[in-house]
Amino acid sequence: MVKSENYDVIVVGAGMVGAAMACALGLKGIRVAVFDRTLPSAFKPDQLPDLRVSALSYASEQILKNLGAWPHMQAMRMCPYRRMAVWEKLHFPSGRELAKRSNQTLFNAADIRHEQLGFIVENRVTQLALLRRLEDIESVSVFAPATIERMNLKGEKPEVMLQDGRRFTANLLIGADGARSRVREQANIRLSTREYEQQCLVATVEIEGGLQDITWQAFTATGPEAFLPLPDIDGKSYASIVWYNLPENVRKLMKLSDGEFLEALSTTFPKELPRLVKLHERGSFPLARRHAMNYFTHSVVLAGDAAHTINPLAGQGVNLGFQDVAWLAEVLTDAFQAGESPGDQKVLSRYEKARRTDNQVMMSTMDAFYLAFSNNNAPLKMLRNVALGIAGKSKPAVREVMKYAMGISGRQAQLAKGHW
Ligand SMILES: Cc1cc2nc3c(=O)[nH]c(=O)nc-3n(C[C@H](O)[C@H](O)[C@H](O)COP(=O)(O)OP(=O)(O)OC[C@H]3O[C@@H](n4cnc5c(N)ncnc54)[C@H](O)[C@@H]3O)c2cc1C
Repeated sequence: MVKSENYDVIVVGAGMVGAAMACALGLKGIRVAVFDRTLPSAFKPDQLPDLRVSALSYASEQILKNLGAWPHMQAMRMCPYRRMAVWEKLHFPSGRELAKRSNQTLFNAADIRHEQLGFIVENRVTQLALLRRLEDIESVSVFAPATIERMNLKGEKPEVMLQDGRRFTANLLIGADGARSRVREQANIRLSTREYEQQCLVATVEIEGGLQDITWQAFTATGPEAFLPLPDIDGKSYASIVWYNLPENVRKLMKLSDGEFLEALSTTFPKELPRLVKLHERGSFPLARRHAMNYFTHSVVLAGDAAHTINPLAGQGVNLGFQDVAWLAEVLTDAFQAGESPGDQKVLSRYEKARRTDNQVMMSTMDAFYLAFSNNNAPLKMLRNVALGIAGKSKPAVREVMKYAMGISGRQAQLAKGHW
């Protein structure tokens, strides 16, 4: 019989959240084995931007800096954004868009004395930087690409068996294996789920007008239309366009030729859209809100998309995932220092207590936006525009929303505060 290799912690999934988790624990000398079925392809500076990008908050930036991944990300590429505009698109009965916008809110980093609100970064860049950082951390072993044949999560210690016959055990197994988590399923952790009626079409386009420092989002009854700036490459500028719509409309848009699609974007999107030069790539994503009923069972715990997925309309999914990392790493490090077993229910419930309410509040906030804007009910439309107009003119309210989105309001974990 093949003997198992024993670690303190096993992490299944080396995506942004799993790789950050392994970094955080490894930096404290905890012995970690990380498994992923694939590895991202290497970065090439002249490569056009990937389709999958994330707006990383100030809090995520601090976490990635404290983990030592940020310089590697900067050495690849990222795009800061200093301002963010949000409004609801209003039309005359003739269908023409209203030119004057009394319902627009502008968030400006300068108003809270910050250089930027956040950074748009390709997911692969963040993941590669974390994996690069893991190479420096002796107590972490990365097994990827590796196929997990079986997991035994019912014994005294969780065990992972690879297709090549190798076996690994640990005192705790962390499921960071994404929205369709196999760990979650095998641990019999149930989910509360809500499928949204909208889908999200993401397109990477080359634009005219140089590097932008603003993101904007216009709400419509079929979902938001958004613009995210991307870094310049070889003197050319790019943007990520996000177009929420009903599934049948997204299907139609996906079938258009590149030229027809750019034409549809130019005629539908707000006038702020820079002139589009070329479509590079497009893809569509179904949207679902999922929340694990429990974040842990005996010696198994979930983090990131494995524990929760939210409507991406405010770009907060992986930012919540990095907060999970910060709090779980703190709880586990304290437990190791106190001589407690990391898989103990008492230990893991401290993590769930630190995270569940915050994740729930963010999910509910996104749902409130989704429900408030996804209809054409006239009184509701008037009410939300009055509310947007008033909120947009109240500097303290705007500053509070900015701080919340940047992850700098409320309690902070050590990793986000800079002591690690
Ligand atoms: C359209 C869209 C836009 C978004 N925009 C933003 C944004 O602007 N800001 C933001 O914060 N978030 C955003 N998000 C959310 C963000 O993309 C996710 O929250 C994030 O990718 C989750 O990271 P993760 O590491 O938890 O999971 P994943 O990225 O799914 O990583 C899971 C990892 O586990 C591995 N894995 C899975 N199963 C196994 C297995 N059985 N064995 C071994 N390995 C396995 C996978 O290969 C992968 O590497 C967006 C999401 C969408 C859909």
